[in-house]
Amino acid sequence: MAKCPKCGVPVVSLHCESVSINSGGTAFAGNAYCCPSCGSILGTAVDPLAISNDLAERIAHEMSQWGDRLDQISDQLRKLRQGA
Ligand SMILES: [Zn+2]
Repeated sequence: MAKCPKCGVPVVSLHCESVSINSGGTAFAGNAYCCPSCGSILGTAVDPLAISNDLAERIAHEMSQWGDRLDQISDQLRKLRQGA
Protein backbone atom coordinates (compact mmCIF):
# COMPACT_ATOMS: atom_id res chain seq x y z
CA MET A 1 0.00 0.00 0.00
CA ALA A 2 1.23 3.49 -0.83
CA LYS A 3 2.56 5.49 2.10
CA CYS A 4 2.96 9.21 2.52
CA PRO A 5 6.65 10.06 1.94
CA LYS A 6 6.62 12.56 4.81
CA CYS A 7 4.69 10.90 7.64
CA GLY A 8 4.78 7.28 6.48
CA VAL A 9 1.07 6.69 7.08
CA PRO A 10 -0.61 4.49 4.44
CA VAL A 11 -2.60 6.64 2.04
CA VAL A 12 -6.00 5.17 1.17
CA SER A 13 -7.65 8.50 0.31
CA LEU A 14 -6.52 12.04 -0.39
CA HIS A 15 -7.75 15.48 0.49
CA CYS A 16 -8.28 17.60 -2.60
CA GLU A 17 -7.78 21.36 -2.24
CA SER A 18 -8.31 24.00 -4.90
CA VAL A 19 -5.19 25.95 -5.81
CA SER A 20 -4.23 28.47 -8.45
CA ILE A 21 -1.51 27.28 -10.81
CA ASN A 22 0.39 30.18 -12.36
CA SER A 23 2.38 29.70 -15.53
CA GLY A 24 3.90 32.54 -17.50
CA GLY A 25 1.45 35.09 -16.13
CA THR A 26 -1.60 32.92 -16.78
CA ALA A 27 -3.50 31.40 -13.86
CA PHE A 28 -5.23 28.03 -14.12
CA ALA A 29 -7.58 26.38 -11.66
CA GLY A 30 -5.83 23.43 -10.12
CA ASN A 31 -6.07 20.80 -7.44
CA ALA A 32 -3.57 19.85 -4.75
CA TYR A 33 -3.87 16.26 -3.54
CA CYS A 34 -2.82 16.10 0.10
CA CYS A 35 -2.08 13.45 2.69
CA PRO A 36 -5.06 13.29 5.07
CA SER A 37 -2.72 12.61 8.02
CA CYS A 38 -0.12 15.38 7.76
CA GLY A 39 -1.43 17.63 4.97
CA SER A 40 1.65 17.27 2.77
CA ILE A 41 1.01 17.87 -0.91
CA LEU A 42 1.45 14.55 -2.71
CA GLY A 43 0.56 15.83 -6.15
CA THR A 44 -0.99 18.65 -8.14
CA ALA A 45 -2.87 18.86 -11.41
CA VAL A 46 -4.86 21.29 -13.48
CA ASP A 47 -8.53 20.96 -12.53
CA PRO A 48 -10.06 19.00 -15.45
CA LEU A 49 -13.61 20.21 -14.68
CA ALA A 50 -12.50 23.86 -14.66
CA ILE A 51 -10.65 23.33 -17.97
CA SER A 52 -13.68 21.73 -19.64
CA ASN A 53 -16.01 24.45 -18.31
CA ASP A 54 -13.63 27.17 -19.53
CA LEU A 55 -13.42 25.54 -22.96
CA ALA A 56 -17.22 25.24 -23.21
CA GLU A 57 -17.61 28.93 -22.29
CA ARG A 58 -15.04 29.97 -24.90
CA ILE A 59 -16.73 27.90 -27.61
CA ALA A 60 -20.15 29.31 -26.71
CA HIS A 61 -18.72 32.84 -26.83
CA GLU A 62 -17.11 32.24 -30.23
CA MET A 63 -20.32 30.71 -31.59
CA SER A 64 -22.38 33.68 -30.38
CA GLN A 65 -19.98 36.05 -32.14
CA TRP A 66 -20.30 34.02 -35.35
CA GLY A 67 -24.08 34.21 -35.01
CA ASP A 68 -23.93 37.99 -34.71
CA ARG A 69 -21.59 38.21 -37.71
CA LEU A 70 -23.86 35.98 -39.81
CA ASP A 71 -26.81 38.22 -38.91
CA GLN A 72 -24.83 41.26 -40.09
CA ILE A 73 -23.94 39.56 -43.39
CA SER A 74 -27.55 38.50 -43.88
CA ASP A 75 -28.71 42.10 -43.31
CA GLN A 76 -26.14 43.39 -45.82
CA LEU A 77 -27.21 40.83 -48.43
CA ARG A 78 -30.86 41.75 -47.93
CA LYS A 79 -30.05 45.46 -48.39
CA LEU A 80 -28.04 44.68 -51.54
CA ARG A 81 -30.94 42.66 -52.99
CA GLN A 82 -33.41 45.42 -52.16
CA GLY A 83 -31.16 48.00 -53.84
CA ALA A 84 -30.71 45.90 -56.98
ZN1 LIG B 1 1.46 12.40 5.47
